[in-house]
Amino acid sequence: MPGMEFPLWLMAAFLFLLGCCVGSFLNVVIWRLPARGTPVTFNNKTAPLTLSWPPSHCPLCQHAIAWYRNIPVLGWLMLRGKCRACQAPISARYPLVELGTGLIYLSLYLGFFYAHWNPGAAASILGGAVPMVLYLIFVSCLLAASAIDADFFIIPLGIPYLIMAVALASCIFSAVKMLPSVTPASVWGKLALGGTLGLLLSNVLVYLKILPRSFSTPQEHNGDSAYAPMPLIPPPTLKKSWPQIAAGFVIALGALLAWILCAAKVAALVTMLAGILAFLVGVLPRPIEAPDDSQLVLEESADINARKEIRKEILFLLPPFGLAILAACIPIALPALPWLARLLGILLGLLVGGGMIWVIRILGTLVIGRVAMGAADAPLMAAIGAVVGAPAVIVAFFLAPILGLIWAVVLKFQGKPNVLPYGPWLSMAAILTLFIGNPVIHWYANQLSPAPPPKRQSTMIWPGEPVPQPAPANSKP
Ligand SMILES: [Zn+2]
Repeated sequence: MPGMEFPLWLMAAFLFLLGCCVGSFLNVVIWRLPARGTPVTFNNKTAPLTLSWPPSHCPLCQHAIAWYRNIPVLGWLMLRGKCRACQAPISARYPLVELGTGLIYLSLYLGFFYAHWNPGAAASILGGAVPMVLYLIFVSCLLAASAIDADFFIIPLGIPYLIMAVALASCIFSAVKMLPSVTPASVWGKLALGGTLGLLLSNVLVYLKILPRSFSTPQEHNGDSAYAPMPLIPPPTLKKSWPQIAAGFVIALGALLAWILCAAKVAALVTMLAGILAFLVGVLPRPIEAPDDSQLVLEESADINARKEIRKEILFLLPPFGLAILAACIPIALPALPWLARLLGILLGLLVGGGMIWVIRILGTLVIGRVAMGAADAPLMAAIGAVVGAPAVIVAFFLAPILGLIWAVVLKFQGKPNVLPYGPWLSMAAILTLFIGNPVIHWYANQLSPAPPPKRQSTMIWPGEPVPQPAPANSKP
């Protein structure tokens, strides 16, 4: 990498290792968060499971795993994927989630501070540190949500709420150009304000039991605290984990090659894709004889009262939509304060992201008579919108089904039923949107405006496209 200075390298290595360690923690979260509170017995002590208790151990023989064998990626390799005591195979998911998280962390750092995927990322680390921390938390939460959704068909609502809280908190920092922002006095600013007030009103009305709750049986409350904890099931383990591990390392090697062969911008995107792929290779494969998850989905989606229940959700959406339109029509002049611009930008993304999925959930359910989308998909997309902003969340929205379709084709070739929920695809699309979101919007905007000649900014180039050379005046091919 010519021109890459030593501190940048050092920082990149640090971010990769940090990502691997966070991936190690995510493995714990993925496995334990849905089952939190379940009584477990370990070393003759029975207590509710927490994220930190009991210490990491073999799920089969309870043999504790020493800290030095808990090192990300390497620990699994040192153990050769087997428990030291009982020889039971350890899921290849552990090292692959760690590797994948490390690669995505690395790609975000190099993508923003070396390859300049976002021109607002600031020449200085200081200006970009706030969005970088936000993005790292964002990505980590999305990865955890994806794996939990793939395993248990639930998204604990704490995950999207955490993302929203961090996004909203980030608006107090000044000089951050990467975060979503809208002009407060514009129609978008007013829509965001009205919609947010409507959303708060709806929640108060539900709390006061003036508005009915939909799907009020406990099973349908996705990730609700009233929901009984899931049983503690170890992650799916294939009989032969070496092909999975080998695939993960080939993918990582591909990312490394990209830095030698491609332009920095492309290489950063390839690294991000490699991270996503390594993560999915770790999380998605299921052993053939595994208990069939499809039963769970069928139970959830085959509610005979689906149409009746979903109408209650229309009532919930009326105040946000109504107040948003009302606010847009009232000639109020919101002050042009920088923090207010960021706050309204984050809220607009939140409303657009959540609103899109929720409307589709309602329309889909009314049409097919079964629950069309998980109840937690709307909060998840709202959280994504809060981080990437209103225009980019639409890119994620259209990218997600494409990714899901690719996986459906893979499963079709393997002759397996496609029972994967939608959450992982929304999440992976959202991670990719951090890089390609703005370029796609600019590209699309350029397509829409035919005249005058499109003003291509050299900083917004579609990946793989050659950098436009400054052409001599009046030269047309
Ligand atoms: Zn064991």
